[in-house]
Amino acid sequence: MIKMTRAYLLSIGNELLCGRTVDTNAAWLSGRLFAAGVQTASVQCIADETADIVQALRLAVQRADVVLVTGGLGPTDDDLTRQALAAYLGVELVYYPELGEKIEAFFTSRGLTMPQRNRVQACIPQGAEPIDNPRGTAPGVLYETEQTLIALMPGVPAEMKAMFETSVLPRIQRRLGGPVVRSVNLRCYGAGESAVAEMLGNRMRRGRNPLVNCTVSEGIITLQVIAKAHTPQEAEQRLETERLELEKMLGNLVFGTGEDTLQEVVGRLLKTKNKTVTVAESCTGGLVAKLLTDVSGSSEYFNYGWITYSNQAKMEQLGLSSALLEEFGAVSEPAAQAMAEGAIRKARADCAIGITGIAGPGGGTEQKPVGLVYISIMNNGICHVHRCHFTNAGRAAVRLRTAQTALNLLRLELTI
Ligand code: AMP
Ligand code: MG
Repeated sequence: MIKMTRAYLLSIGNELLCGRTVDTNAAWLSGRLFAAGVQTASVQCIADETADIVQALRLAVQRADVVLVTGGLGPTDDDLTRQALAAYLGVELVYYPELGEKIEAFFTSRGLTMPQRNRVQACIPQGAEPIDNPRGTAPGVLYETEQTLIALMPGVPAEMKAMFETSVLPRIQRRLGGPVVRSVNLRCYGAGESAVAEMLGNRMRRGRNPLVNCTVSEGIITLQVIAKAHTPQEAEQRLETERLELEKMLGNLVFGTGEDTLQEVVGRLLKTKNKTVTVAESCTGGLVAKLLTDVSGSSEYFNYGWITYSNQAKMEQLGLSSALLEEFGAVSEPAAQAMAEGAIRKARADCAIGITGIAGPGGGTEQKPVGLVYISIMNNGICHVHRCHFTNAGRAAVRLRTAQTALNLLRLELTI
């Protein structure tokens, strides 16, 4: 097995532990480290307490090669990270006059006098080095031995990012002799997480190379495929082979790569085929149109659509007959079909999506329960109506799943 450099991320600050601030620093850092071939083994949020920070540092140094700490470098009494590093190392904080002058100059340039308490920001634990802060006053701190690199960076995300890119990442890269890592995302829609896992079987085994990770967000499954090797060519080759195998196993469940969305993929297909689309929405209240037009350049394939919420609107705007609505109701297969047909005729589009359903939580009956939705897709003059039932979902979730399913069904129609 190829050994990887491991990182521990420590996010310091009481605000992270009372729900006031979300720890975006660790998420960002783990992404940047991953791209550099460093695996984040742990992320921890810690209160502004010296003893807690010292204990976390002790554990992190035992378990990781790279320890990145953010937050707690400010001038106030609750910022204790630099003191905690000194305590952990068993050394004193040393005042650096040149750092003090730089911090003072920062205040002077704004016509202010530096408060005395900012002096502490020019103090660095003995044996460690200051890291330049291109975006603010407080320098970072770097402590490096043969076994471990510890970096203390500010909590303010913009300052932390600039410091990481300019000073910390190059130092980490210098230490890396490890494997080359390449990764790709496969984006899937149309099956649950467990169904996808079942289809992939052994390929999702932990410790395998390539490794396949699975996450799900708002119905979209992302398979992250990670290949490690000694050379970039070898890693890329492994990744490509795995990607092709996975695509073969999952078929048309795979709709894209990277961060692709269903609406982007549908937009690309419409552009390639030189087609336009229109929508006739009821229970989604315009969500499909919103998603379609989230994509820059969507005016090439989307002119307009309808939100026909009432029966009267469905009749007046899309030409549904009162006989149809009386016989089958607004939430029915014939109504969905007539909506798509009416919209395509009026908009003179090439494709149409029609949607009618019961988003809930009220309005359901035994025959037509909450979450029942009919989605019609019209393409090449043919209309297919799909009956879907989204269970165990609130109003917002029913609407979102309906809109995504509609986009996915159109995608499938366009790829036949
Ligand atoms: P500090 O360096 O601890 O004084 O943090 C300064 C500010 O940066 C805090 O008030 C937060 O708004 C923000 N911050 C600190 N840590 C994080 C973090 N892990 N993720 C996102 N923002 C943070
Ligand atoms: Mg703080």
